[in-house]
Amino acid sequence: MKRHDLLIRNVLLRHQRVDVAIKGERFTAVAPAGTIAPESVHRVIEGHSFLIRPPFYNTHTHHAMTLLRGSGEDLPLMAWLQERIWPQEARLTPELVAAGTRLAIVESLHSGCVAFNDMYFHQPAILRTAIEMGVRARVGLMVMNQVSEHIENEAALEMLPDLPPTVQLSLAPHALYTTTPEQLRHVAREADRLGLPIHLHAAETRTECAIAQARFNAATPIAYLEQCGLLRPGTILAHCCHVTDEDLARMAARGVIVAHCPQSNQKLGSGIFPWVRAAKAGVAITVGTDGAASNNSLSMIAETKAAALSAKLGAASPEEVPLAQIDAAVTQIAARALGFPEAGQIAEGKAADCLLIDLNAPAFAAGNDPDADFLYAGDTSCVDTVICAGRILMQGKIVPGEAAIVAAAREAARKLRGE
Ligand SMILES: [Zn+2]
Repeated sequence: MKRHDLLIRNVLLRHQRVDVAIKGERFTAVAPAGTIAPESVHRVIEGHSFLIRPPFYNTHTHHAMTLLRGSGEDLPLMAWLQERIWPQEARLTPELVAAGTRLAIVESLHSGCVAFNDMYFHQPAILRTAIEMGVRARVGLMVMNQVSEHIENEAALEMLPDLPPTVQLSLAPHALYTTTPEQLRHVAREADRLGLPIHLHAAETRTECAIAQARFNAATPIAYLEQCGLLRPGTILAHCCHVTDEDLARMAARGVIVAHCPQSNQKLGSGIFPWVRAAKAGVAITVGTDGAASNNSLSMIAETKAAALSAKLGAASPEEVPLAQIDAAVTQIAARALGFPEAGQIAEGKAADCLLIDLNAPAFAAGNDPDADFLYAGDTSCVDTVICAGRILMQGKIVPGEAAIVAAAREAARKLRGE
């Protein structure tokens, strides 16, 4: 008899009742309900009141900015960075970054997210925190000419040979307005040398477009990034609010992926990413929350709904961006974008990442389309259990050690304010 570690019995997968078995880091069986013998497993979760779904994979964030949440509300991007964010970030330490990252991971787990694509300082602290909490992460080696004393690229690179498969590195130049052309060309060469993907902000605001033209004599930010050699397979560009059809064709041809951040873009008034134009051009689209200082939520449920609504509004049609396209963007396409191609699907042989959603929550009473209910009417209170690479990270809506993590983050935020 085939042995499994965990059996989730009689759970709803899309519109069917199934048994889902896990061994080690993989799904070992997905079979009609009642067909996997409970005697063949070490542990059983009764799934009759749960919907099982792939989790979310957040493709753009600055996780430790949970400590800066609410700081400098209503300022424009450049003033917000220069007057509020960079002065506080000057006080960062590895311990404070770890405290903010832990808080962000707790919040992410409550919203059903198991992976984050991070761009922030004191990267060894971020890597250690991701490993300690059992989530997937890709952490950026940064290039940025502000608060650069907190960048620890060499120390992070030294950790690379010993990182578990769930945690990876990228090259993360911050944006074209905080770097030089020489630095960006160097990043392209380093990407070749180290075999690492690239992650940066791109075409976020009209100001950035004006800088691309005035400072770098480029028609658009995307054209400039191509000149610097950064458009290549696997590059993740965050935002992309201001892109021409020519930009999108370039991005599709180069295999570039968009991390669409609808709530950050709306809150900062940056612009609206043209989802339908990008999808028609063949660009891979994923969704990110951006940091909690600009969103201010890290809920991928809320972000997914915002992405769907802005895409449908942009298209002036409910039909052009069907739910299945949105759902794939935040699960399997995002998992692949972050270097986890075997994650993001509930199927035999795939990585055992999943959510158990509480079907007793009011949003699921009608039961016409439970996945739509979760994405359009759900919230963090619906997420009961989170499993990542076969490990249960949250169960019964409880993340182990949560109260201490919240208390430590409160203290860390005080220190950043200089109190
Ligand atoms: Zn960002």
